[in-house]
Amino acid sequence: MKIIDKLTDGKVHISLELFPPKQNEYLTKVDELVEVLSKKEPFYISVTYGAGGGTSEKTIQIAKDIQDKYNIPSLAHLTCVSSSREEVLKRIEKLKEEKIENILALRGDLPTDRERSKDFKYASELIEEIKKYGDFCIGGACYPEGHPEAKDIWSDIDNLKRKVESGCEFLTTQMFFDNNVFYNFMYKVLKKGIDVPVVAGIMPVVNAKQIKRTMSLSGGMLPSRFKAIVERFGDDNESMKQAGITYASEQIIDLIANGVNNIHIYTMNKSDTAGKIMDNLSEIYRK
Ligand code: FAD
Repeated sequence: MKIIDKLTDGKVHISLELFPPKQNEYLTKVDELVEVLSKKEPFYISVTYGAGGGTSEKTIQIAKDIQDKYNIPSLAHLTCVSSSREEVLKRIEKLKEEKIENILALRGDLPTDRERSKDFKYASELIEEIKKYGDFCIGGACYPEGHPEAKDIWSDIDNLKRKVESGCEFLTTQMFFDNNVFYNFMYKVLKKGIDVPVVAGIMPVVNAKQIKRTMSLSGGMLPSRFKAIVERFGDDNESMKQAGITYASEQIIDLIANGVNNIHIYTMNKSDTAGKIMDNLSEIYRK
């Protein structure tokens, strides 16, 4: 099933993301995780792709299992920052062979031990390549606060428009913690004539390690309500988890109440966190 066919049907859709485990924990970790999450009836599950290899091999296998074993559409991520055209084509062929119809096409960030691709500079070039070789539904990434390398938000949105024109059918946002940032971004995106569906990416922040990473990614643009939660509960794992789940659930409810129907939860492979958020929304997302 192509994801795009449902993104505009006016219903609420919640999708989830997981990443392939680094070691050989595949069966125990991912199977358990998908087993638990599948019961919550997510719209699709996306599987991330390591920009420099490593776990990349597992992405397609996990995406295939999600479809075949659990009958849930999967979205396989694919990056190009350190890949040759030949390597990308091999992956596209494999995706076709495994009947995976949805790809999130990304540039990726260059790992320190890899060389930059001579064939691909931007995600838009990867999208053009994918389109040449298969009938896929292709998504891309977008950044409500602007991509960190972009000169400013408007030039980033100009580049986003190029990405959409190259064949990107829907977008998924980077995580954000203030819904007004998303609403402002949508205003700008529409003003520039980008009219593909935008899936809002929500990250439940539930532990100290995540808090540190979130703080560094967001460049201090965190709402005071979020900062207060972290200050009060950051050192108490159980309280932080409960507060993080509630915060993410409230963010999602506000988005849906304001007409944003497509939400993606960055699950960070935590089935209990994702499961509790889905439970908090159970009456909302099945309508
Ligand atoms: P691009 O769209 O290529 O943009 C990168 C930068 O180049 C931006 O600053 C943009 O403004 C600029 N740009 C684009 N086109 C042009 C142009 N024609 N001329 C000049 N400048 C241009 N990383 C992983 O490694 N694996 C994953 O699985 C993964 N999944 C992700 C999922 C989501 C939803 C998101 C939001 C990010 C994900 N990332 C992942 C991270 C992503 O790879 C990085 O954020 C990366 O830095 C940018 O990737 P992109 O596809 O957005 O790049």
